[in-house]
Amino acid sequence: MSKQCNKCSKNDAIYLRQYSGEFLCKTCFVKSIEYKVKRTMSKFSMIKNSDRVAVAVSGGKDSLALLNILKNTLRGIDPVLIAITIDEGIQGYRDESLNIVRNFCTKIGVENRVVSYSELFGLSMDRAMEIRPSEKISSCSICGTLRRRAIDILSESVGASVIATGHNLDDYVQTFLINLFAGDVERIGWTYPDPVEYGIGGLKKIKPLMEIYEKELVLYAVHTNIPFQTEECPYKDESIRSAFRVHLNNLEKIHPGIKYNAYKSILKIAKRLKESPANTVNTTLTTTNLSTDYVIGQEHRKCELCNRDSSNKICSVCRTLNILTEGN
Ligand code: SF4
Ligand code: ZN
Repeated sequence: MSKQCNKCSKNDAIYLRQYSGEFLCKTCFVKSIEYKVKRTMSKFSMIKNSDRVAVAVSGGKDSLALLNILKNTLRGIDPVLIAITIDEGIQGYRDESLNIVRNFCTKIGVENRVVSYSELFGLSMDRAMEIRPSEKISSCSICGTLRRRAIDILSESVGASVIATGHNLDDYVQTFLINLFAGDVERIGWTYPDPVEYGIGGLKKIKPLMEIYEKELVLYAVHTNIPFQTEECPYKDESIRSAFRVHLNNLEKIHPGIKYNAYKSILKIAKRLKESPANTVNTTLTTTNLSTDYVIGQEHRKCELCNRDSSNKICSVCRTLNILTEGN
């Protein structure tokens, strides 16, 4: 016999939320996700009604779910939402997701703006992979460095005050472990979700899905009929992130709720680190670490090549492009 939903006591349950022991029907599950995201946004004062929010939408489940949730939950606040999409230039992979995003945005009535790596940096990811001087410079570190910059530029060009990304709770815990194992303690402090203003025009970055399990986002997307891309990028590298992902999922199976407990502890650690006066970082370039440019609490400097904010003389994007084109 099927179980009844613990919330409405009317419908059949479709999901057992292991960490809380609740059985939920489709409607109550969808509502619970939207409620949790709304609560996260209000807890960390992520969006206010005068904001123009650039939502980074790739075509994957997380970012499309984020757009849908923002559209559904911000009705009373009514900020302007603009879906921004980055075309990395990966033939046969990105084309499908660009279509998915375009069609979904049309369906829910949100403007979609796209910019490509070729337009901004003069080369696509396909080209970058052909010319990279060594496999030690990983595909995802090149791509991630360029994508962060592309998102910033496109957000500025649409006049956004906030950039929302689809990072979920699993991503947040994995990022903590990556920083911990890399000895990057200061960077842990930067992950505290106070939307810090930085760069030209004081753009803020927010992660409204940071308290939602990845698995529940898949379920949310399926039950709200969001079409998302499932095909994997051909350049996806088997990074340490994948290893942590597998380990954390195994732990969660044996100890339901362990990822959420870890998340809560990490928040406390990140807050203390963020408030500590020594919140700076050594952004030395290594062959595998192309690093980031913003150092919270540190005086802004400008990259000598592109004139964008950077804590180094040359920003990570210009260094990456130099390595790709000059091999140094
Ligand atoms: Fe870029 Fe890596 Fe994502 Fe592929 S998997 S789109 S290379 S970051
Ligand atoms: Zn630069």
